[in-house]
Order: sequence, then structure tokens, then C-alpha cells
Amino acid sequence: MDLGINGRRALVCAASKGLGRGCAEALAAEGVDLVINARGVEALEQTAESLRAQFGISVVPVAADITTEAGREQVLAAAGDVDILVNNAGGPPPGSWRDWERDDFIAAFDANTLAPIALMKALLPGMVDRRWGRVVNITSMSVKAPIGVLGLSNTARTALTGYVAGVSREVARHGVVVNNLLPGLHATDRTIMLDQLEADTTGEAIDVVKARRVSTIPTGDYGTSEDFGRMCAYLCSQHVGFMVGQNVLLDGGFVNTTL
Ligand code: NAP
Repeated sequence: MDLGINGRRALVCAASKGLGRGCAEALAAEGVDLVINARGVEALEQTAESLRAQFGISVVPVAADITTEAGREQVLAAAGDVDILVNNAGGPPPGSWRDWERDDFIAAFDANTLAPIALMKALLPGMVDRRWGRVVNITSMSVKAPIGVLGLSNTARTALTGYVAGVSREVARHGVVVNNLLPGLHATDRTIMLDQLEADTTGEAIDVVKARRVSTIPTGDYGTSEDFGRMCAYLCSQHVGFMVGQNVLLDGGFVNTTL
């Protein structure tokens, strides 16, 4: 299927690795020129070079912390008038509700609520003026089904979901489509980190923990960044004009709900 976005320009945040990189790759495969971001320069430059070599598109890498105002200023200056925005950042650390203080919540809100809101506030007006735009916010299955140790994520991402529910309907009549894409368990560094944390807590080998976690997914394996990226590219496509403010769960059936 031709996604109809060849020649468009996208900003993909937090995209040197994992799910963000999967989104950048899938957009590049559709002929979308990219501005990509992450904090670490080395992995970011390598990703940019690999995307250019593989897909022949233009890639501008911007090494910056997207959760800070200064970082966003750098990224937005390089991005200019993009047609597509993929919001992403690292997730909050796991922990216990007994320990989380105000500062922990503020950090989670800064990274996973206020950073994507600030980028939408900066970029949606241009999309509205040009009467075409796509925004995909990478959130988490935790907005559908809470994850105990990730309470900071449950809280911050649900706040973003509420914001998107309203704003997506404000901009829809101008050809601008905003949706959220909710990862389940995907094979990325973050998932390995969470497997390792559980292994450290229980004293089991990481392979044992992984086998147990994977066995809870109806498809029998973690998802891939590549599949996640292709779903993201579809949500950035010409074909989603009637899909507004939705929360698309990509989790191999892990969240056990009927609707
Ligand atoms: P990952 O494999 O750890 O990759 C994170 C990427 O984001 C890296 O490129 C990293 O590069 C970049 N990054 C992190 N913090 C950043 C910041 N402050 N500013 C700019 N770039 C930043 O993570 P992932 O698994 O792809 O997860 C992506 C998001 O999805 C996270 O918010 C995660 O919580 C959420 N999620 C993931 C899963 C899953 O199964 N993987 C499930 C539910 C939700 P640098 O470190 O160099 O900045």
C-alpha cells in the first residue's frame, strides 16, 4: 500500500534506538525526509547514516534532551515546518508508590506529558495553516491497563491521553490528525532493562524472567521495533484522515480486554 507521504518531512523524537528508531525507519522507507533526535551523539549519527544509506532520504540528527526547553528549542530550530511529528522520550523509572515524591512526578510529567504537549503546541499551528499534518504520540499500554511498578508512567501518560483527546478534535477539521500509539512489550533496551530489574529482584536468570514475561503475551513473543514503526507510519499516512484522537494498542493481545 502506498502511504501517500513520499516527500513529506517528519520530526521523530528519541529515535536513535528502539521504538523511535523503528518509526524513523518505517517513515524513511516511505520516502519521508527526517529530523531525528536523541541525547547520545554516537548512536544518533550512526542511525542517521544508516537511514540515509538505506533509503536515500535526507536525515538531520539533533543531539538534545527533548524533555528540556533548551533541547526542544534546538530540535524545533532544525525541524522547521514539518508535516509529521512523532513524540517519544525515555520512560520513567520503575519503583514503588511508597517512594514516589513530588519531584518524581514532575520529572515524569516533564518527559512524558509536557514535552509532547510543548512540541504539539509549537508545530500544530503550522500544520493547521498548511491544512495537513500528522502527529503520533508514543505512550504505553499502561494507559489501558496499569503496570504497578510503572506508576509514574501510568500517571503521566494518562494525562497526555486526556490532552490529546481534546486537541485532536480541535485540529481535525484542518486536515491535521493526532493519535496515540500504545506499545505493549517490545524487544528494546528498555524491555531488557525491565527484565534485568525483575531478575535482580527475584534472583532468577534473565532468560527465565524473559520466558515468563513472554509467555503472558498471546502471540508468544515480544513485539519488534520494525512492526511498531510500520504501524506508526500508517498512522502518519494519507489514509487516516477519519481517525481522530484514538489510542492504538500494539501489544500482541497482552492487555486482556474485550474493547
Ligand atoms: P529505548 O530502547 O530505551 O530507546 C529510547 C530512545 O530514546 C533512545 O534512542 C534514547 O537515546 C532516546 N531518548 C531517551 N531519553 C531521551 C531524551 N530525554 N531526549 C531525547 N531522546 C531520548 O526505549 P523504547 O523501548 O524504544 O521505549 C520508547 C518509549 O516507549 C519509552 O517512553 C518507553 O517507556 C515506552 N514504552 C516502551 C515499551 C517497550 O516494550 N519497549 C512498552 C511501553 C512503553 P539517548 O539515550 O541517547 O537519548
